[in-house]
Amino acid sequence: MSFKPSELLIPARQLLRVQDIPVNGADWLLMDLFELSRLDIMLDQPVLTEEMQQLYVSKVELLASGVPLGHLTGFQVFYGRPFQVNGHVLIPRPETEELVERTLEYAGTVVADIGTGSGCIAITLALESDYEVYAVDISSEALEVAKRNAELLGASVRFLEGDLLAPIKAESIQLDILVSNPPYIAESEKELMSDSVLDFDPHLALFADDDGLALYKRMIQDLPEVMKEGGHVLFEIGHAQGLALKESINQLYPNVDVHIEKDINQLDRIIWFKWCQ
Ligand code: GLN
Repeated sequence: MSFKPSELLIPARQLLRVQDIPVNGADWLLMDLFELSRLDIMLDQPVLTEEMQQLYVSKVELLASGVPLGHLTGFQVFYGRPFQVNGHVLIPRPETEELVERTLEYAGTVVADIGTGSGCIAITLALESDYEVYAVDISSEALEVAKRNAELLGASVRFLEGDLLAPIKAESIQLDILVSNPPYIAESEKELMSDSVLDFDPHLALFADDDGLALYKRMIQDLPEVMKEGGHVLFEIGHAQGLALKESINQLYPNVDVHIEKDINQLDRIIWFKWCQ
């Protein structure tokens, strides 16, 4: 028996759709496994063997069960582009695309992505706008991955190694936009997490002290030093962190009007505000 790509893809996409998993994973997986191009898929060629079909179905089932594409292929698709990932970086999540989309609504020139990991936020912003983008991470191994991704995708980003906003302060960079999806999971939530996350994503990229709020609070303290007046700050947050974080921001800066936005699943996901003192 032999199969055309479409005969494998249609049921695979269907299976992912039912599970609410981005359906383009079916295409990327097929291309990766059998070294096919997008054109091959569009032309519905070449013919695949039954063995190939079985291998593909077994991987699609893993994808449908929640295993990230990055575990199966070494890359994760973010905002339509493949990002290389390994055990040193967080696998980009689809929710984070909303943070990028929101950020792109703002005009401005100088933008920093703090805790860049694979570089997915910084690189996408650089490719989708004419911002001047800085990306910071404390992990040199993560920065290597991010730099490789910037090179492969042809993005111009300046990478700085260091602790949160420290390198931005050290270079006296003044930001129009600060965006960050830092580690924000409370240690107490570890037990509730699935093995596919705990086994693959680096714990440095997942957990933070103080109910997961520690890194936001440290960044917030530095805002007067790094933000231009009227600039914008956007953080991805955990679903239970919106109000607590809003409170700590307003304790320090009572004039700031903090907004909390929900994601497609109606969970708090983004906190943003216009910076003023
Ligand atoms: N900024 C990267 C991402 O959104 C890494 C985030 C992290 O390591 N917490 O995927």
